[in-house]
Amino acid sequence: MEASTLIKNLTLHQRYWTIIVVLTEMDTVRNFKSGQGKIQKLTFMDNEGSQIYGIMFNEIIDKFHDILEIGQTYVISNGQIKDINKTFYNVHEKFEIILNNLSEIHVAVNHNIQSLNKKLSTIEDIMSNPNLPSDIILLVLKVHETRTIYRQRDKKSILKRDLQVIGLRSEVITLTLWESLATKEGKQLEDMMNEKPIIFVKGVVGKNFNGFTLSSTISTIIEINPDLPTTKEMMDWFNETGYRHASSNFDAYLVANLLKINTSELSLGEMKYYATKVIIKGLQQEENIWYPSCNTCKSRVTITKDIVRCSKCSKENAAYSLRYLIKLYVEDETSNAIFTLFDNEAESIIGVPVSELEKIKVTDIEEYNKIIKNSCDKEMTFIIKAQDKIYGNRTFRSLTVQSIKEDSYEINNTISKKIKLEEK
Ligand SMILES: [Zn+2]
Repeated sequence: MEASTLIKNLTLHQRYWTIIVVLTEMDTVRNFKSGQGKIQKLTFMDNEGSQIYGIMFNEIIDKFHDILEIGQTYVISNGQIKDINKTFYNVHEKFEIILNNLSEIHVAVNHNIQSLNKKLSTIEDIMSNPNLPSDIILLVLKVHETRTIYRQRDKKSILKRDLQVIGLRSEVITLTLWESLATKEGKQLEDMMNEKPIIFVKGVVGKNFNGFTLSSTISTIIEINPDLPTTKEMMDWFNETGYRHASSNFDAYLVANLLKINTSELSLGEMKYYATKVIIKGLQQEENIWYPSCNTCKSRVTITKDIVRCSKCSKENAAYSLRYLIKLYVEDETSNAIFTLFDNEAESIIGVPVSELEKIKVTDIEEYNKIIKNSCDKEMTFIIKAQDKIYGNRTFRSLTVQSIKEDSYEINNTISKKIKLEEK
């Protein structure tokens, strides 16, 4: 027997080789439609976590039937190293093994590879390589109803279902399931929605259409609440940190530029959430950048001759406080827009509480102007809510900031956590 090699060192058409791998998955034996012959697919993983498919046909399936068991480590020698079919999901980016008459499989006596060390992608990985089918662990926040889409290309009706999901140390994103995944797994997830199920999605791809989303393909597989170490890690992270992202933009957002945000289709009353990176160019300052706000309903109160009146609450002498209301001029390479900000989001742009800023404006207008000027010419990522509203007889798109992404902080935090994990 030759010295063993790693999966990553296998080469095309190499005939003699030995790998030590754990059998992580074993598909059921499938018969060809013609009735002539059968096929079975195995998934192997070595101690580096690299995976490769082993394909068996006909009598080879029978030959190894008794020895194969999921979780067992094997010494496997010889077989055809073949190019993969790139249209289908594969665990290896180049090759698969066809086990043949020359192949040998023995239980490895002195080796024991832990099968749980699967290579998982992050949403960022998929964004940088969207067409490569990836495996990812996601937590399901929301399951939408199925919808029927009419596909022009082949004049077929197809079913889709959108899920709002969150990745480990990542943001809320949409995952679209198609056809049977939408009806079967999608329905299961819908029934479990309150439990916040975790899914292991194998073979998911990225789509850049109206913002970045994840999508299933015909070969995507979904495991619900899989028994993986990452499942627990995901749950712990979500309970500690993740729910805050999720609750501040629960309807999930798409990553998009201003042109897309300004031109995307919205039906009246519909809300869409976007993450967008823009430069702040200025503040609208025709009026104060705050207003007297009813403490009960947050509406603007009118103050005449010391009588504070909230028309929404129909109340005189309503308790009120100043509330930020900022219109921000923003732009990116594609377009420009006006974002509306209130409360904390506004305060984090201005840098001082509204009550303080009001005093500064009265006592030191130069200082006030300086504060306003310092708020501009910054590049920031905002989570915004887009909604079409009717004003008089025209419709306009209202863009309200929901939260501001503290990019630099999050990146540092993620890196330090990653290092800690690798040290273990
Ligand atoms: Zn009120």
